[in-house]
Amino acid sequence: MSDELRVSPIETREVPGKRRFAMVVDTRRCIGCMACQVACKAEYDTPLGVNRTWVPYKVVGKYPNVKKQFLPRLCNHCDDPPCVRNCPVGATYKHEDGGFVLQRYERCIGCRSCMAACPYNARFMLPSHRTYTPITNVVDKCTFCFHRVTQNLVPACVQTCIGRSRVFGDLNDPTSEVSYLVAKNATQVLRPEEGTKPHVFYIGADRNQTEFGRDAYRKPDVMELQRDAFKRHFNI
Ligand code: SF4
Ligand code: SF4
Repeated sequence: MSDELRVSPIETREVPGKRRFAMVVDTRRCIGCMACQVACKAEYDTPLGVNRTWVPYKVVGKYPNVKKQFLPRLCNHCDDPPCVRNCPVGATYKHEDGGFVLQRYERCIGCRSCMAACPYNARFMLPSHRTYTPITNVVDKCTFCFHRVTQNLVPACVQTCIGRSRVFGDLNDPTSEVSYLVAKNATQVLRPEEGTKPHVFYIGADRNQTEFGRDAYRKPDVMELQRDAFKRHFNI
């Protein structure tokens, strides 16, 4: 591998002059409306059966005192991302300003090494091309809405979240709302034992919820069925 493609972890947290974007998800405020998932679909025109963000839920309690617990999921834009380390061609990389983990579609050879390396099942193969990205058989994932954030907009899922469960901002800015929320609340990240340093922080996700999230690392089987049906229908 050339030096150009060799990747080392880029620490962007608390680095002077650099931004470090993060998302805080207050699970106590999530009502499971899935508006975030729909907004993401609309923003990226992702094909049937694959999602950049999704909202698994679990029913807890005993009848009649039952409730649904939601755990919105997306790429964690890890500070030490194994997907980046394991990509043999440097198609996935971490953006120095902001900490976004991004894809270079034109470099991706579809080997799925990054998918295998990601402990969160946050990546997927594009089964067919998107309207504005005429490319397929490459790996896709959440970009923290890089194109919006660099235009001073928040990600589509954050903008549409009616519960204000999702909050986005610069963790290196002590006056940002995400800094405030992380400072004032006990937060959890998914699978901290992996050492990936996720930058999606959950509030109110107890151990059971995060364990539930662990189950949900496997995308629901229904997505696979939808994808198969889609491929059969279009003969691809
Ligand atoms: S969640 Fe997965 S895809 Fe996203 S940066 Fe971390 S390892 Fe990579
Ligand atoms: S839009 Fe907000 S409230 Fe609705 S499911 Fe997504 S995170 Fe939960």
